[in-house]
Amino acid sequence: MKWVAVLFLSLINLLSFSQSGSVKAIKAGRLIDTENGKLLDNQIIIIRGDTIQAIGAGLQVPAEAEVIDLSGATVLPGLIDCHTHITAQHGDNYYEDIFRESPIDEAVKAHIYARRTLEAGFTTCRDVGAHAFVDVALKRAINHGDIIGPRLIVATLFIGSTGSHGDLTGFSPFLDWKLPEEMLGVANGVEGVRKQVRYNIKYGADVIKFGASAGVMTEEESVGAPQYSQEEMNAIVDEAKLWGKKACAHAHGTEAIKMAVKAGVASIEHGSMLDDEAIALMKQKGTYLVADIYNDEYIMSEYKRLGYPDKILDKERSIGQIQRESFRKAVLAGVKIAFGTDAGIYPHGWNARQFKWMVKFGMTPMQAIQAATINAADLLGWKNKVGSLAPGKFADIVAVNTNPLDDVQVLEKIGFVMKGGVVIKNELSGKK
Ligand SMILES: [Zn+2]
Repeated sequence: MKWVAVLFLSLINLLSFSQSGSVKAIKAGRLIDTENGKLLDNQIIIIRGDTIQAIGAGLQVPAEAEVIDLSGATVLPGLIDCHTHITAQHGDNYYEDIFRESPIDEAVKAHIYARRTLEAGFTTCRDVGAHAFVDVALKRAINHGDIIGPRLIVATLFIGSTGSHGDLTGFSPFLDWKLPEEMLGVANGVEGVRKQVRYNIKYGADVIKFGASAGVMTEEESVGAPQYSQEEMNAIVDEAKLWGKKACAHAHGTEAIKMAVKAGVASIEHGSMLDDEAIALMKQKGTYLVADIYNDEYIMSEYKRLGYPDKILDKERSIGQIQRESFRKAVLAGVKIAFGTDAGIYPHGWNARQFKWMVKFGMTPMQAIQAATINAADLLGWKNKVGSLAPGKFADIVAVNTNPLDDVQVLEKIGFVMKGGVVIKNELSGKK
């Protein structure tokens, strides 16, 4: 009985806690309703603690509320990037990055990237590949309030076959990285990949990321050939499902994309070489496309200077534009699209530069914004928490001083960021 009473009291405490917290009211001149694809005028958002309590025109502002006047701005839900590598950023020397840095360097610097990403308006990220579980530590520190950063869903180690995009390929066989293969995410065979999925989950993976195909930023010969068999891909996705996790596949080449879609991944990352059959399969299975169609600009203008081998630059050259045309075809065909940029390939905080390219290659500004809000939330399985401004969801709110539906590039200059009811940045309004 005593325990029942204690439990009951704790419940009361919990309830009263969720009702308490500071009260804020945002006056939004314009508001983007991402669920209905509409632009609304003169909305009031009432926030209690970390949650949106009410939203609408002509709402009564509670007397105790701190009012944030964004009546000259356009307000939208916090943005979501479904493909980041927030713990790392390519430095200014390819070989130095590989041979002189370790995951400890990444752990030291990750908080800087996390803050930049949040200040750029990205309040949630799905981080799809990090070394040595630095992503788990980063997420823990953010959730604990030790450092400032976006909400994270993390994949931990990229799972790849021997010699794949996930392996350290192209170096001397006598080079000893002093890492067990499972710590590299290198796994082979049905049993091997199942064990790797379990290992990743054991140490904190929220989502499973694997390499269905070769890639650009590594030195294996191909850019898009399959690097797992159908059986291995099926096993990865199946094992992830057993543990209640979604899987996503890095896939550039057509065949690898189709294999991963058939295996049942939630999303195809990159999706560079889509043919009609791949598009039809993705539509049929409801697979999301997460295509990083901005960063070709950055790679082609900067990576030569950073000392990247010609092999890598040639690979990017061979698929950069093809990927954008594939994206256009997928948009036209009605494939589900979620925003994802591969941040870390280019400087963290520049994530919103991709909006321009999504519009250039077939989306309306509203569709591009939905890809980075409500659709992204759907892919993450977090539709009840983020992705739109609605009662009961986290008060993750951003604002810009002009209407992004007129010019989506204004999202590159987010002037107001709130995460969980806490104002992170406000260059737009005087608080009243
Ligand atoms: Zn990536």
